[in-house]
Amino acid sequence: NALSFFSTSTTQTLAMQQSDLAQRLTMEVELYQAMTNQGLFLEYQPIFDGNRRIVAVEALLRWRRLNGEMVRPDIFIPIAEQSHLIVQIGSWVVKQACHDLALLHKAGFRDLKMHVNMAPSEFTSNTLPEELSAVVVQSGIASHHLCLELTESMLMQQPDRVIPIMHSLRQLGFGISLDDFGMGYSSLSRLKNLPISSMKIDRSFISGLPDQAEDRAIVRTIIELGRNLRLNIIAEGVETDSQLAFLRQFGDTLIQGFVMCHPQPLNELIRLHQPVPRPVDVPA
Ligand code: C2E
Ligand code: MG
Ligand code: MG
Ligand code: MG
Repeated sequence: NALSFFSTSTTQTLAMQQSDLAQRLTMEVELYQAMTNQGLFLEYQPIFDGNRRIVAVEALLRWRRLNGEMVRPDIFIPIAEQSHLIVQIGSWVVKQACHDLALLHKAGFRDLKMHVNMAPSEFTSNTLPEELSAVVVQSGIASHHLCLELTESMLMQQPDRVIPIMHSLRQLGFGISLDDFGMGYSSLSRLKNLPISSMKIDRSFISGLPDQAEDRAIVRTIIELGRNLRLNIIAEGVETDSQLAFLRQFGDTLIQGFVMCHPQPLNELIRLHQPVPRPVDVPA
């Protein structure tokens, strides 16, 4: 009957909450250790222009647990966020990514840009602009080589804190990209005044291309909007040739997705995309 169902499910819920909590705590401790024992590492996914040239890479964080199991960032980033580990992890990510970008520049990827995902608590820290400036100087890259990705929903949670930080970052020359665009219902009037340099069209709109009329209309509209606001537009999660063909009608749209390249370790990237050396690089 209804009453016994209720009491059983309450007991089950309590037990579940306890084991969830225990699991979460174990993960937190392990995640903390992972920072120092190489359990955390980065993969890089290229972003291509219309001529299939790599113009940027996005750093994507990976966690391999002590038992060898890989944990997806969708799972561990929220845990890191809740436990404030994200601040330390995030600053490690930025340093590593900038260091690797300098190596990519040396390997011949001239003027390549690095995109780094930011967590909400990183983007509400007033010291972020100074910290990032110090990192790019130490790495020997320019601020315009680093592009910070933040989501619309992050922006909308605390616009009064986030937007001034965005302005400082843009003044210092950093790029800012609005990630997962289309998922956060940001108003057009707000978008108009946002100090951003690019928008990434969320994968959920790309996946319906080219068959779904609604997705075609949404993607066209976002691209048009981006052009009018003079923003770079990146289509993310492009998986098929027909999606790619649809997007290539818009010559200026940048492409990121499995159809072009999966995220991969730095060495693979250098090996697979060994650029043609410039004449000055050829030994005499
Ligand atoms: P995101 O920034 O929107 O990254 C795109 C995600 O889509 C990545 O998943 C990428 O591997 C995946 N992806 C790329 N191309 C395709 C495709 O063609 N098809 C499909 N199905 N997926 C594709 P990943 O690496 O699992 O990252 C998930 C999310 O975790 C990221 O979403 C980002 O929000 C977050 N994240 C990753 N690294 C970091 C980090 O260093 N810091 C923070 N704060 N968040 C991070
Ligand atoms: Mg991203
Ligand atoms: Mg995204
Ligand atoms: Mg995402």
